Amino acid sequence: MSKNIAQNNFMLEALNQARIALEFDEVPVGAVIVENNQIIASGFNQNRRNCDPTAHAEIIALRNACEIKKSTKLENCDIYITLEPCAMCLIALSYARIRRIYYGANDEKFGAIESLPLFLGAKNAYFKSEFYSGIGAEDSKTLLKNFFQNKR
Ligand SMILES: [Zn+2]
Repeated sequence: MSKNIAQNNFMLEALNQARIALEFDEVPVGAVIVENNQIIASGFNQNRRNCDPTAHAEIIALRNACEIKKSTKLENCDIYITLEPCAMCLIALSYARIRRIYYGANDEKFGAIESLPLFLGAKNAYFKSEFYSGIGAEDSKTLLKNFFQNKR
């Protein structure tokens, strides 16, 4: 399997997680964490379900992965997220030393990588993951657009 196909498959699974969020009437964002070319943990946005503003897909996936690894560090792991991570998630991923961040759509309001790069712009930011954007972005955007359109 070529690297690109694998990447797309991981993002497809993140998109599936986003669809699960949608079923629970949550903002459709999903994430999977990959180690050695295998998904070890996943998560979807569950703010409302948990009454928890920090229950973003990345945080849920991160907690699951750390529990599986019995570690606070995920140095050999990559994350696939359907939406650009916010500052909270980006810093949590940095604490976990996530190696690479792959994400789909940009988040113009909260995105901390390209949209509002406060942390990445800080010279003394301790650990910065590599990041790759735009993977599966159209599907991610469509899910989000449909969700917010139905809310109006
Ligand atoms: Zn977040």
